Amino acid sequence: MNTEPLRADDARHVLVLEDEPQMRSMLTDNLEFEGYRVTAVATGEEALQAVTARHFALLLVDVMLPGISGFDVCQQLRARGMHVPIVVLTARTHEQDRIRGLDLGADDYVSKPFSVRELLARVRALVRRDDWHAPGSGEFTVGDVVVKPRQRLVLRKGRRVALSSREFELLRYLFAHRNEVVSREQLLRDVWGYSHLSVTRTVDNYVAKLRTHIEPRPHEPRYLITVHGSGYQLLA
Ligand code: CA
Repeated sequence: MNTEPLRADDARHVLVLEDEPQMRSMLTDNLEFEGYRVTAVATGEEALQAVTARHFALLLVDVMLPGISGFDVCQQLRARGMHVPIVVLTARTHEQDRIRGLDLGADDYVSKPFSVRELLARVRALVRRDDWHAPGSGEFTVGDVVVKPRQRLVLRKGRRVALSSREFELLRYLFAHRNEVVSREQLLRDVWGYSHLSVTRTVDNYVAKLRTHIEPRPHEPRYLITVHGSGYQLLA
């Protein structure tokens, strides 16, 4: 776990993990042009080392790598309880692989070939949402789960729970709107930053995952309930 103090420029520092030199410099150039500071590495091992040494606002991770894969990187970071937003770059278009990435803790994915505009929009949405040192992010409790947004720490009965950045934001958003019915479209717009997207099933998948973290019996939710035909409601 990174215990380094947060520096002002960390909020714009992106780590790029990509083994193909051309793609790596293209990503670096575009991100720098957009005003991000970029550290680019070619292997998963280097990425894990870099993330241990300092804070990043976001990780852009290619899945297909010669050593450990981008999936492994996501999994290892989440296992260490690190909530840094991760966007996965995948050449694969099978839904199974996308789901695998999200299951292993990625927050979003972009399939190659992608448009640079689309990629930058995804990065922007996640970096903007990662405003965890902003005021008004006080500690809160849902059932036996304690959430400390400033430390990005989630504890269940005193034990750390490894939430992905998106799961964390979803929980925080639902808490900010606790006891209200929140629609899937509203969640996609405000938590995902998508202005027009029909894939509301994404929300259902995340809600199901979040329930495993916060509910005593995820299949009989007590706190994060489904309001049929409307959306979800966090009772707190
Ligand atoms: Ca690659």
